[in-house]
Amino acid sequence: MVVMQANASAEDVNRVVNRIRDSGLQAYPHRSAERMVVGIGGNIQEVGADQLMQLPGVTSIVPIQKPYKLTSRDFHPERSCVQIGDVHFDDKLVIIAGPCAIEGRNQALETAHAVHEAGAHILRGGAYKPRTSPYSFQGLGERGLEMLAEAGEATGMPTVTEILDTKHVDLVTRYTDMLQIGARNMQNYALLHAVGESRHPVLLKRGSSATIHELLMAAEYILSHGNNRVVLCERGIRTFETATRNTTDINAIPVLKAHTHLPIILDPSHSTGHWEYVQAIACAGAAAGADGLMIEVHNNPCEALSDGFQSLKPERFAALIQQVNRIYSVVNCTAVNTPQPDPNVAAAHMNPACAL
Ligand code: PEP
Ligand code: MN
Repeated sequence: MVVMQANASAEDVNRVVNRIRDSGLQAYPHRSAERMVVGIGGNIQEVGADQLMQLPGVTSIVPIQKPYKLTSRDFHPERSCVQIGDVHFDDKLVIIAGPCAIEGRNQALETAHAVHEAGAHILRGGAYKPRTSPYSFQGLGERGLEMLAEAGEATGMPTVTEILDTKHVDLVTRYTDMLQIGARNMQNYALLHAVGESRHPVLLKRGSSATIHELLMAAEYILSHGNNRVVLCERGIRTFETATRNTTDINAIPVLKAHTHLPIILDPSHSTGHWEYVQAIACAGAAAGADGLMIEVHNNPCEALSDGFQSLKPERFAALIQQVNRIYSVVNCTAVNTPQPDPNVAAAHMNPACAL
């Protein structure tokens, strides 16, 4: 990473960027209030640290030791504020809600109105469903995208939906405001590459057997292809426990916050798999510092074509929203009154054996 004077001119920055690119490497400029840095993708030997040091405005060359670089706090110490439509991941607990799958126009519209009235900010709904069985409902495809878009417009909410195939990037981008990469595709590198090039916001879910490190490396694929509008999602991991569908790795929230600038959300619907536990775990996520929650809500869960067991009825969802917002405001007041650790200092004190 090339560190430049905070007030380095655009001309000086361009000179550094061009020198890096002329050597066949990638350059990732990032300006913040405190400093100007240019990340280098590739081997710095190719461009020569000494030559870079001689360029105007350059103050130092700092190696980023972690294998994920653009995703790390070393490159980007301040939190990223990702924006989806007019919703910002910065000053509130962002609630993404809606059915697991879009099943029809009435279901989509009714559920969208209900979650919007309860306080949701972003509407979710799958049109392409990755189901364990090929005989289960696979989603309505483009018709589902149309219904989701209509429900989003009717309620004024931006939308997110899962994408399963690289050839759907343009289509899904036309209909929705955010592309979801589901747990099963977290390491589908062709898909990560394609959404990285699309520049559309991405919700990247953790694979059910993926480590936090692997999640960060998957995010690095998207960022390194030019898209830094990425939100990470903890959605439960596979353990020996069978009482719940997955095990919520609540640790992942503070761990990810310490290591990356990207917003982190929790999906307590998939992490528990039972509607009875969703509210408690949503509260745990808000208390642990999540920037948002993704909750499955259905206007009639008993009739749902997928994930009905874990879907909330609208009135239970409304109660959940009240509770999580209270917790979020308490946690945030504490954060405002308590000095926050400098992430650089925290990283320096970290036991290297525990470094991700
Ligand atoms: C979903 O959000 O409906 C979904 C399939 O989630 P996951 O990829 O986390 O299983
Ligand atoms: Mn689901």
